[in-house]
Amino acid sequence: MSRKCIDTFTSSELSEKCVFVRVDYNVPLSDAGDITDDTRIQASLPTIQLLLRHGAKVILCSHLGRPDGQVVEKLRLTPVVRRLSELLDHEVKHVDDCIGESVSKAVNELHAGEVLLLENVRFHGEEEKNNPEFAQKLASLADIYVNDAFGAAHRAHASTEGIAHKVKSVATGLLMEKELKYLGDIVASPERPLGAIIGGAKVSGKIGVIEALLEKCNLLILGGGMIFTFFKARGWEVGSSLVEEDKIPLARELEEKARARGVQLLLPTDLVIADKFSKDAASRTVAADQIPAGWMGLDIGKDSGRIFNDALSGCRTIIWNGPMGVFEFPQFARGTVEIAQHLALLTERGVTTVVGGGDSVAAVEQAGLSDKMTHISTGGGASLELLEGKVLPGVAALER
Ligand code: AMP
Repeated sequence: MSRKCIDTFTSSELSEKCVFVRVDYNVPLSDAGDITDDTRIQASLPTIQLLLRHGAKVILCSHLGRPDGQVVEKLRLTPVVRRLSELLDHEVKHVDDCIGESVSKAVNELHAGEVLLLENVRFHGEEEKNNPEFAQKLASLADIYVNDAFGAAHRAHASTEGIAHKVKSVATGLLMEKELKYLGDIVASPERPLGAIIGGAKVSGKIGVIEALLEKCNLLILGGGMIFTFFKARGWEVGSSLVEEDKIPLARELEEKARARGVQLLLPTDLVIADKFSKDAASRTVAADQIPAGWMGLDIGKDSGRIFNDALSGCRTIIWNGPMGVFEFPQFARGTVEIAQHLALLTERGVTTVVGGGDSVAAVEQAGLSDKMTHISTGGGASLELLEGKVLPGVAALER
């Protein structure tokens, strides 16, 4: 079983062919409907440009938001058409559906070297149900199916999974391959020592990834809201910090597992605490086991940042998922920003740094350091599942 990347196809295999590309244009929109971050559109360009160079007819398909099987006017892909067309410097045609007569007509009228973006595929409830008839209707538009939607590859939906079984010729796109290379291969066979930084709100969202990383990494750093469940497990007072009571035994188990496996596990030794969950809260720094009643930890302290960064300096590969604190509030962003700055420096020194999707990516962008990491993933859930060692359905379906 192996998969093929679209860059292994010859010009004659692509020229004049209808190439259906599942992309991930699930971009954030402002209330006015403007795209506030076009990273995912930019990330799709290499595959589209490759297909255009070889004279393919490019059909793009994506979801946007959660329309739950209904047509939702503000979730149409119209803003994406404009932005994609600007970035490609090429006309992008658009149809108001992703299946049906208007779509077949638009595809039949498509010439070599033209691009057509279908309407939000989640306007049909059959998409998320991976309905076989719906997948067949999408497949009927394609000579070749390419999955380049890494951010949606952990979902077995009609346009990410079902369709791949109904088109003979299938491939990964360039973005998908890049994501699989960094997140998949590097975790499987990293240059050691391998360090992982896991943060974010809750332990419950990161259990799988922490367990998987404990099997693989040499250093594991924990930050963010999840640490208070670990502190509680040690019998410390955590004030009104975020705690998942039902995960306390698990936190204890994970600490024991790290010890048994010889993984260096670091938790913060000091914290920036706040009297309320607000950007204008009163704040001060305390030792990690000295949180007064009524106060909550919202960032790691300066000493912790220094200890974390010193430990990271000894690693050759570093994976990061989840912020160290509530970085959305400027006075609790320092811990996260300092880690981002240090990773940028280490990248310059030849360390491989991979930032898994979601909020840590937003934090790196906020710090203006996106182009300073080895790889920044475009997928949150998908990147976590890959780090956990799971097989992504959207990738498995491309194996032949
Ligand atoms: P996740 O999606 O699990 O990676 O969590 C990201 C969110 O965790 C961000 O919105 C942060 O504001 C939040 N977060 C980080 N540290 C804390 C903390 N100490 N207390 C509460 N929330 C936090």
